[in-house]
Amino acid sequence: MSRNTRDFYDHYVKVGPKAVQCNYYNKIINTGITRFKKHLSTQRGSVIECPNAPTDLRKLVIQALKEMRQNKRSCRQLRDWEP
Ligand SMILES: [Zn+2]
Repeated sequence: MSRNTRDFYDHYVKVGPKAVQCNYYNKIINTGITRFKKHLSTQRGSVIECPNAPTDLRKLVIQALKEMRQNKRSCRQLRDWEP
């Protein structure tokens, strides 16, 4: 695993216990970092898509979400993301 998950910290600002603000859209997601990842990945769901996230970042997030689903048992990467 060579992915540097800490890069994702560059894309949000923590504004509350479970709230993060998107650097690209000034959107506050107050339901946790997982929702924020979905916001960045612009996958369909219950979150508002990020209109300003760079394409490369989107790909990265989508890949990370996919890997998290595949590695439910060893989710250290996921923990690295938690604010
Ligand atoms: Zn955004």
